[in-house]
Amino acid sequence: MSEQKASQNYSFQAEVAQLLHLVTHSLYSNPEIFLRELISNASDACDKLRFEGINHPEFYEDDADLHVRVSLDKEQKTITISDNGIGLTAQEAIENLGTIAKSGTKDFMSKLTGDQKSDAQLIGQFGVGFYSGFIVADKITVESRRAGVATSEGVRWISGGTGEFEVEQIEKASRGTDIILHLREDKLDYLESYKVKQIINKYSDHISLPIQMQKEVWQQEEAAEGEEPKAGQYVKTDEWEAVNSASALWTRNKNDVTEEQYVEFYKNLTHDYEAPLAWAHNRVEGNTEYTQLLYIPSKAPQDIFTREAKAGIKLYVKRVFIMDDADNLIPNYLRFVQGVVDSADLPLNVSRELLQESRDVKTIREGNARRILTVIDGLAKSEDEKDQEKFKQFYAEFGAVLKEGLGEDFGNRERILKILRFATSNNDEISTSLADYKARMKEGQKAIYYVTADSLAAAKNSPQLEVFKKKGIEVLLMADRVDEWAMNFVHEFDGTPMQSVSKGAVDLGDLQDAEEKKALEKAAEDFKPVVEKLSDSLKDKTKEVRVTTRLVDSPACLVTSEGELSPQLLRMLKQAGQAVPESKPILEINPEHPLVKKLDSSEQFDDLANVIFDQAVIAEGGLPEDPAAYVKRINSLLLK
Ligand code: ADP
Ligand code: MG
Repeated sequence: MSEQKASQNYSFQAEVAQLLHLVTHSLYSNPEIFLRELISNASDACDKLRFEGINHPEFYEDDADLHVRVSLDKEQKTITISDNGIGLTAQEAIENLGTIAKSGTKDFMSKLTGDQKSDAQLIGQFGVGFYSGFIVADKITVESRRAGVATSEGVRWISGGTGEFEVEQIEKASRGTDIILHLREDKLDYLESYKVKQIINKYSDHISLPIQMQKEVWQQEEAAEGEEPKAGQYVKTDEWEAVNSASALWTRNKNDVTEEQYVEFYKNLTHDYEAPLAWAHNRVEGNTEYTQLLYIPSKAPQDIFTREAKAGIKLYVKRVFIMDDADNLIPNYLRFVQGVVDSADLPLNVSRELLQESRDVKTIREGNARRILTVIDGLAKSEDEKDQEKFKQFYAEFGAVLKEGLGEDFGNRERILKILRFATSNNDEISTSLADYKARMKEGQKAIYYVTADSLAAAKNSPQLEVFKKKGIEVLLMADRVDEWAMNFVHEFDGTPMQSVSKGAVDLGDLQDAEEKKALEKAAEDFKPVVEKLSDSLKDKTKEVRVTTRLVDSPACLVTSEGELSPQLLRMLKQAGQAVPESKPILEINPEHPLVKKLDSSEQFDDLANVIFDQAVIAEGGLPEDPAAYVKRINSLLLK
């Protein structure tokens, strides 16, 4: 035997210790999840071996049938979960079982609701599944040997789940990991094989790896002549049999998979504790062959709008796990989609770089995008009330993300536009589709009008809307951050132009009668001197001053030239630290407004001009460039 190093003691990272306390003191109401978590780790370990085995076939040693074994020992009061996967080195055991690499723990702690059931579900979501073993065990022994490492270099890790753990080097013949749980006295029912089988079926049936338990046979002793027959019992044999169906769920025929199985697979895949809103499962044939199983979650992750947000697609090649978060398989604007893609055409050693260039990957990405959009559209169109509810929830969670697709995925722009819903000047609810809007357009109306602002309230009260309200023309209200940017890419829907009411001059076309047009011309003529004076006063702030009919109650408003960035978008970009082109807005004045009428004769022309301009800035959600000067001017005007 090789020399054995003495065992060494280590302390858990403070966060782990805190977590362990929590696990053992408040998650005891749903203890059975420990099996799901440990089996999922074992299955991950086998996936990792398959992956490393591509370049290192020697890692398989003589033991290529990957499996998980669950064994029960009533005498020792232990339940052992063994795998012949990748295994752990001593260093890996210390690092991976003693610290929490992800910063998720704090998040985890803050999310706890006190409801044990949902709290217990959270534990898996935050990558702390291993510690769930301590819900049922007061001591855990881990024995492991890393693939490719000498049998003398195994490791034993022991902890009682409080502050410390102990690590020593051991001799271990078999590759992989045994997790030995020494059950708490009140958890001995997990030694009953029927119960363990039940739990495996419930949580882990779809795991693509066989999960085996020892086969048991019924044994009954012959009773002697004249005696009562003796009670029989199940006795374990040396044979192992799979207790799960062990076929990767996505490889099964749709008709053979139940709704519960789809949901359970999703939960396992994502560690989401809520069921998904919808899913699509298809085998796609043609030049590129692949299977897609794609899910739409019911909630958006918190980081959905940050740069770190990752696509949740796992890539398999012929059932071999290749990588997580394969973001080339789904366009960025659908990054909320979770699931599995299994390709028959990609090479097993495909890298992220290769993925970027592959034509097959491009085909898969497009296929995935189309499929998801079809699923969403199906929900939107469905008459079923449940689907309607789902669509609403989908839209509230992911509508804004989806809009990014208008700028990213030109091929699907029309499809995306059909799915979008808006609040309008007539209806606060975000429920009007572009088709609905078109159906309600007034006679003579030639465009779909919309306004973008920082909030729905600001959009609704925007001065640019006044003439539309007066004439009873519906205007779409948009207040998502992405709207302004996304709408830059949209010029029409179904043959009807889309027109921002704050860009360019309002052209109401036939909605404006001859008299109104004449009145505008006359006002422009009458106000020529005032407009000139204003242009002069405000020459640093505006590009142009002109008379408008779009206003009813407001003295003035800002508009942007067609094709230029609006003040809101400029503000947003500036806040995000981006360099923005200097661009000045156009000031439009309302010749009917008393303040504007007063301008010409005002002794404080310059003050009034600047106040009118600053108010227009405020009305569309901005701040005067020099707030103190603004206040001073107002006060001075008030005093007069
Ligand atoms: P997660 O699975 O989300 O990474 P866990 O707490 O479940 O978090 O597991 C922590 C880490 O411990 C894993 O990432 C892995 O490195 C290691 N580990 C746990 N179980 C095994 C196992 N059976 N074989 C190899 N490594 C394991
Ligand atoms: Mg885990």
